[in-house]
Amino acid sequence: MTLTTPIRVPYRFTYKYGDFTWYLAKHDGIDFAPPVGAPRPWRPDVYPALPGMVTRSSYSISYGNVVYVRSVIPEGVVELRYAHLHERYANFGDEARLDTRIGIVGNTGWSTGEHLHFQGSLNGQSFDPLLYLSTVPMWDTLKRIWREKFNAEGAHLYIGVLTDQGKLYIVKDGKKKEVGTTEFIHNVLSIRVTQSEMDKMPNL
Ligand SMILES: [Zn+2]
Repeated sequence: MTLTTPIRVPYRFTYKYGDFTWYLAKHDGIDFAPPVGAPRPWRPDVYPALPGMVTRSSYSISYGNVVYVRSVIPEGVVELRYAHLHERYANFGDEARLDTRIGIVGNTGWSTGEHLHFQGSLNGQSFDPLLYLSTVPMWDTLKRIWREKFNAEGAHLYIGVLTDQGKLYIVKDGKKKEVGTTEFIHNVLSIRVTQSEMDKMPNL
């Protein structure tokens, strides 16, 4: 499964899948936010990460304006949610193609700043969308994230990486090591890159 990145302008991730949020619930998705210094309000268009059908387009107290798109893929049924939208452009029953604008980024619902909350499930099981995005932060961004984490926590940061060739790596303090199991991917910042990007990384 490859997910088209739902935002087509530069962004940064402000929250990762699996963390506990301020209301002590597991964060079931990832958050796309404006890059540092981006003009506000930051309201880029939002596109489906997979083509499908709109199964919900509504306002909820928590998600604000939210659009759900359901897709049938060889692995099963994927449902993707796009939350905190400023405006919704898709309605229940609409076909959502990759070039269908379904809304724009906003700050509605339980949100403290403009961002897109993006979450998904496959056959009812929640998954980390970051592992499947077609584009991911470049190594510079990763190194910055690592440095920020290192400075904040004073600890080594392990990053789980899945390449487009299906190889798994652990990146420790900016150096890679190939691993053969997804066990290491859990509880670390997990990302997906192309094999050629990975090949440029030094080994552990
Ligand atoms: Zn979120």
